[in-house]
Amino acid sequence: MIDPFGRSITYLRVSVTDRCDLRCVYCMAEDMTFLPKAEVLSLEELDRICSAFIRLGTKKIRITGGEPLVRRDVMTLFGSLGRRIGAGLDELTVTTNGTQLARYATALREAGVRRVNVSLDTLDGPKFKAITRLGRMEQTLDGIFAAKAAGLAVKINAVAMKGVNEDEFDAMLAWCGEHSFDLCLIETMPMGDITGDRTDQYLPLSIVRSRLRKRWTLSETDYRTGGPARYFTVEETGRRVGFITPMTHNFCESCNRVRLTCTGTLYMCLGQDDQADLRRVMRSGGSDDALEQAIVEAIGRKPKGHDFIIDRRQDRPAVARHMSVTGG
Ligand code: SAM
Ligand code: SF4
Repeated sequence: MIDPFGRSITYLRVSVTDRCDLRCVYCMAEDMTFLPKAEVLSLEELDRICSAFIRLGTKKIRITGGEPLVRRDVMTLFGSLGRRIGAGLDELTVTTNGTQLARYATALREAGVRRVNVSLDTLDGPKFKAITRLGRMEQTLDGIFAAKAAGLAVKINAVAMKGVNEDEFDAMLAWCGEHSFDLCLIETMPMGDITGDRTDQYLPLSIVRSRLRKRWTLSETDYRTGGPARYFTVEETGRRVGFITPMTHNFCESCNRVRLTCTGTLYMCLGQDDQADLRRVMRSGGSDDALEQAIVEAIGRKPKGHDFIIDRRQDRPAVARHMSVTGG
């Protein structure tokens, strides 16, 4: 599938649930209301949409959420999608907060998953609790080490927050080096109402990178994972550090992905509201051909890019839906 700007769309991110066992401050409000179950696609429906994407040339699928591993029976979806690896699909990956990884790491590996992204914003227990509101750092760390033991490559995702974890990136880079993990730092994006003020949290990664360079030798690489991060090799550890900079650097030119929510809404851009309702096509008895046609038509409307700005005068996010809806 080629979009109107000549970009080949080969990467689908699928949010399998909007629910989560944590309430990270940048992602959710403390008292989130979740979707009624009837609105959420069944695992079979999700599989059907993913299959249509694979037939249309999708090479990589990332399962995300909410927290994907809290969805009941989610491993059956990993199982059915895993069977498509080598038969159209090149890669199946997952982004998780790690709380359930100790339970599922081996099953994920058996399903064909080889890489996992685990969100960990700090190595300080009380700070972890403050950021996630409900989490216990040991549980996520146990999950991370279970993934490593199961033979999964681990990438740690950390959202950079001013005055919260900005003093920890040296230590996190060293820790990742020690355990053979890559690290990916993310700028906070203005998505969804959260409790509190997001403009206070925003920290440009250009600043973080120049601080890291005081201690570490970061060499440019052209390594890509199909995602939006720009990677450097940390010469002292041999691992990579990536930067996702939606706010300070426009990553849209090479965008190859679209996002499906757990209600079957397809968003062509993380930062725009235009969407296609694939649930309606399916639940009104649409054939596989009709589903494929709806997808192709939606890709034909993929916008050139987002225009996130942090608006300091208006007290509202640039995009109303939460990151847990589109899965980041
Ligand atoms: N629950 C899983 C997790 O936390 O990894 C998967 C879903 S989560 C929405 C995906 C990623 O989005 C996480 O790495 C999270 O830190 C990031 N994220 C959530 N809200 C964000 C925001 N407002 N700005 C930047 N990143 C955000
Ligand atoms: Fe849950 Fe992930 Fe959002 Fe944190 S970032 S609240 S773990 S969905």
